Amino acid sequence: MSSPAGPAGGPSRVLVLNSGSSSVKYQLLDMAAGPGTDSRLAAGLVERIGEGEVADHDAALRIIAAELNGQGLGLDSPELAAVGHRVVHGGTRFTEPTLITDEVVAAIEKLVPLAPLHNPANITGIKVARELRPDLPQVAVFDTAFHSTIPEHAARYAIDTGTADRYEIRRYGFHGTSHAFVSRAAAELLGKESSQVNVIVLHLGNGASASAVAGGSCVETSMGLTPLEGLVMGTRSGDLDPAVVFHLARVGGMTVDEIDTLLNKRSGLLGLCGDNDMREIGRRMAEGDKAARLAFDIYIHRLRKYIGAYTAVLGRVDAIAFTAGVGENSAAVREAALQGLETLGIEVDAVRNAVRGRAARLISTDTSRVAVAVIPTDEELEIARATYALAQR
Ligand code: AMP
Repeated sequence: MSSPAGPAGGPSRVLVLNSGSSSVKYQLLDMAAGPGTDSRLAAGLVERIGEGEVADHDAALRIIAAELNGQGLGLDSPELAAVGHRVVHGGTRFTEPTLITDEVVAAIEKLVPLAPLHNPANITGIKVARELRPDLPQVAVFDTAFHSTIPEHAARYAIDTGTADRYEIRRYGFHGTSHAFVSRAAAELLGKESSQVNVIVLHLGNGASASAVAGGSCVETSMGLTPLEGLVMGTRSGDLDPAVVFHLARVGGMTVDEIDTLLNKRSGLLGLCGDNDMREIGRRMAEGDKAARLAFDIYIHRLRKYIGAYTAVLGRVDAIAFTAGVGENSAAVREAALQGLETLGIEVDAVRNAVRGRAARLISTDTSRVAVAVIPTDEELEIARATYALAQR
């Protein structure tokens, strides 16, 4: 049996782990498979960690190891080159994929107050994977990193500077791995270098964020200190007057944790109409459901405000790229978001927009000044590439 080999003939497989609070997603990719070749060898998900059968992340990773073993792709394989970990918050310190050391783990631990739900799970995943394969390079790829190029005037909130600095309050942005992948893919689709194009990326999944990418560097994004800011999402409110929080505390008698849960878990589309799945909202709208219609309209209105704002931020827009669950699949959202924007040079072709598919594609008319694209995101591939590149050094 021939084994896949990297450029130097060494191991070429990368395991990507995305450890959430109650789940671990994994993918095993072969980075030696040539460009355009599907390099995905295995993928899976262990859910409901801590709810019985799967006691903890340690148990979850052992299940993943067993699943891979069963396919002859074991974690103990000499063909495994490295493990890449998605880490949500890199603070101001981590602006690039980073080889994990004890010191790096300690630094990620220090960032837990900025991402109390996410970073602890990421750290657990890293610790267990390092115990399983202490000999392998392990790499942390941060969701915030791509946004570290946002200029100070866009990253700072207009609050007292001393207070902001003391508590590290600034716009960090998230979904960075996706924004990086999709903005680069948009340039490729146009047959240009990233440095030549300005792109607005709309990552519309259950979580949603927009970014403005100028010549390959992110200059603005909609999520902030946490993923709560910006667009209307599946269960998050996105932008609101911060005084809503004071009002709910003072007048509503709610605790900070209750308000946190309200805004992160019971707001957005779910809070507005009882459903956070855009497919269900579409079905209800077709039946004339008024709450679903209003939720959709609020979602679209916010999205259009960001498209307008980022057009002004960039000055010249070459492409608008839709990605993630809603962005890749909902022609209705794409159409409504860009309708009537011909004066901005944006023209969507209705037939192209209606075509479904897994490939990156253009949905704008041939005369549209701004290219509009649907680009399936691939965060795991992006993490694997970064991990493999670092492991090769
Ligand atoms: P993600 O977080 O990227 O996995 O996106 C998940 C969301 O994508 C779901 O909550 C759905 O609302 C949305 N979605 C998935 N498939 C479709 C579809 N065919 N049409 C509209 N929305 C979809």
